[in-house]
Amino acid sequence: MHVDRNYENIVIVGYGIAGMTAADTLRSHGYQGRLAIVGGEPHEPYSRPALSKAMLADVGTIEPQYLPASDHGARVLLGNRAVALDVKRSSITLDNGEHIDFDGLVIASGSSAKRFTDHPREFSVRSHDDALRLRTRLHDQPNVVILGGGPLGMEIASAARNIGCAVTLVHQGTPMASHLGPYLGSRCSEAARAHGVELIDGRVAEVCAPDSADGPITICLDSGQEVGGDVIVSTIGDAPEGDWLADSGLLTDGRLKVDTRGRVNEHIVAAGDIAWLPTADSHERQPLWTAAIEQAKTASLALLVGDEAPPLDFQSYFWTEQFGLTIRVSGDFPVHGEPEVVARGQKANPDALLLRWSGDAQSAAAVGYRIAIPKLRRVATGDFLPS
Ligand SMILES: Cc1cc2nc3c(=O)[nH]c(=O)nc-3n(C[C@H](O)[C@H](O)[C@H](O)COP(=O)(O)OP(=O)(O)OC[C@H]3O[C@@H](n4cnc5c(N)ncnc54)[C@H](O)[C@@H]3O)c2cc1C
Repeated sequence: MHVDRNYENIVIVGYGIAGMTAADTLRSHGYQGRLAIVGGEPHEPYSRPALSKAMLADVGTIEPQYLPASDHGARVLLGNRAVALDVKRSSITLDNGEHIDFDGLVIASGSSAKRFTDHPREFSVRSHDDALRLRTRLHDQPNVVILGGGPLGMEIASAARNIGCAVTLVHQGTPMASHLGPYLGSRCSEAARAHGVELIDGRVAEVCAPDSADGPITICLDSGQEVGGDVIVSTIGDAPEGDWLADSGLLTDGRLKVDTRGRVNEHIVAAGDIAWLPTADSHERQPLWTAAIEQAKTASLALLVGDEAPPLDFQSYFWTEQFGLTIRVSGDFPVHGEPEVVARGQKANPDALLLRWSGDAQSAAAVGYRIAIPKLRRVATGDFLPS
């Protein structure tokens, strides 16, 4: 594949996994021009998934789990945020007033955690600094109320129980079921209960935060029930970091929509949690670590070679670690119905299971079962069964 556009000055906004992968991909496909990366956090790229797993649970780890250093040779501006994009002038403005011109732009600004309030006793975890703040607080063993029973909420609940906190988790329905389906959702919920988490099936109507930093914080549920805790942790989803694009003319209904190659237009591409990808009838985000990597590879190549770049072809892969369960899934999720047990663990871990759902969905899950990701993907598609 040859580079058919004479870019000399590419800028990447966002230095997470998508921004870093984009920089590496541009270089590995022969881009030799100037490269600048604007990274809103003061850190080099690190593992975000580790924040709710090893980082919270492990008393020793306080540095981010940095990703292996890259030799892309970019000018990296850490701790600076892009605040505006002028598409006509091909220029971005930073929060320090600096303007940076570009002839090609990669938008990889990710997303931020949704919250109910700005109260200091409401925690959320998106960045290393968020996780550090929460971890410090958890080590005082407060009563913790977690709002949201997706992977993030359940992982934080698990870590908080390991530290010795009393944990209540509020979620409408079965935790994890909307991500993984009822079978795995039940497994996770049973494990949470067995580890002493109080699960409340309910919907948050209001979070009543006190005016002072130390007054009680109360959660009112739709049912009228009130739940109080020393701290609350909101894990109620993420919102794409698109404010800086508000006047760019690139957003449709607040969404940064891309084509199947991650292109916003001929000179601007986007990847990762910020990007809305086309589906059969609309657009959706795929806020997953491996999706961000694949999107960044596709989009940055498309910036260089246009239609010659292959469209995104991504088979979803996701993992979670909670309450002693390590679950890795590939394929279509959430998935309904009972799985077929394809294999069971050996002596070291007899409870481990390799599961597969067939029919309309092509899905596989390894519950504590050791299997390489490519093989798990082939179990999902029915192309591989361990002997
Ligand atoms: C705690 C946690 C645990 C997770 N666990 C898993 C998991 O187990 N498995 C999984 O698949 N996924 C997991 N995810 C999701 C996964 O981490 C994300 O999908 C992935 O990090 C997205 O990468 P990204 O590069 O698009 O965005 P990000 O990683 O968010 O990186 C974007 C970067 O851009 C910066 N930025 C934002 N706005 C600007 C601006 N205006 N100017 C400059 N810089 C800006 C941000 O500060 C950030 O550093 C988890 C997420 C979180 C928060």
